[in-house]
Amino acid sequence: MRDLFDAQLINGAWGDPGLYVDFCDERRALLFDIGDLSRLPPRKLMRLTHVFVSHAHMDHFSGLDHLLRVVLGRKDRIVLYGGPGFIERVEHKLQAYTWNVVQRYAVELVLEVREHRAEGGTRRALFSSRNGFERCDLPPAAQPQGDVLHEEHTFRVRARSLDHGIPCLAFALEERARVRIAKDRMTQLGLGPGAWLRELKHALLSGAPGTTSLQVAWQNRDGRHARNCRLDELRDIVLDVVPGRRIGYVTDIRDTEANLSELQQLLAGADRLYIECVFLQADAAHAARKHHLTAHQAGTIAAKLGVRAVVPFHFSPRYEGRAAELEAEMLAAWRA
Ligand SMILES: [Zn+2]
Ligand SMILES: [Zn+2]
Repeated sequence: MRDLFDAQLINGAWGDPGLYVDFCDERRALLFDIGDLSRLPPRKLMRLTHVFVSHAHMDHFSGLDHLLRVVLGRKDRIVLYGGPGFIERVEHKLQAYTWNVVQRYAVELVLEVREHRAEGGTRRALFSSRNGFERCDLPPAAQPQGDVLHEEHTFRVRARSLDHGIPCLAFALEERARVRIAKDRMTQLGLGPGAWLRELKHALLSGAPGTTSLQVAWQNRDGRHARNCRLDELRDIVLDVVPGRRIGYVTDIRDTEANLSELQQLLAGADRLYIECVFLQADAAHAARKHHLTAHQAGTIAAKLGVRAVVPFHFSPRYEGRAAELEAEMLAAWRA
């Protein structure tokens, strides 16, 4: 089964935190946190449609300039999500520059900024290159259910506000469902695999009617082939529809019961958890002063959430050369 998306930490366990989520076959991507983005080539930044920022500490937010520098004049729209005060923060960054010629660029860049408020509701504003990125407030968006921040046919992103001394968003990326295809039945129908399988999955997951027509095109050693099929005709090749993958991105939080309780509601039983492991437990007092987790605390949280896989990151530079110790401490707590 081909995955809907592929997730990778942009700087590994060290350096600024950030998770790049590439949608296979779709030429689009999501990004969680925008610190140091220098390892992402321009073609990968150009694919970004939605960016989610946990909080505005520099290691999570300073890359907005880099992103703008790459996409300005080339890309038309990016949606940015953040916590309380996020619209003002983006506005301040944009107002730091002089924009007397961007109005003439062929491609207008619009940043839509959405601010998730702890008390519920979402504030929105637009910043367009056509008017020098002057802020334009929009009426609040129709709020999706509960803690859902963003929703599409094939996936959604949920967020909860956690305590890092300041509010910090933790995210869950949830594939809506996975459609498994029976290759033998596809062959029996005389069809070959191609990009149409993605269209088929989209149509099924969005509840399109059976009369929907799909252009089925594929290529093999006999050449190119194309046929129009109704969704009804194609249902036979679907083996089953199984629950989608759930991925968590959790960084910069204090080790508290309240945070754990929010995470239980967001990520219990997730397939993979990216979680900060900033300090060793031997430095737990220092971790508490910095409002961060130790590797042991992160592993304990992962165990309590019952996640299937854990990826530690955001290692403090003070442990350079000691990644194995941080990983071992996290794993020991998780497996216990
Ligand atoms: Zn951080
Ligand atoms: Zn922080």
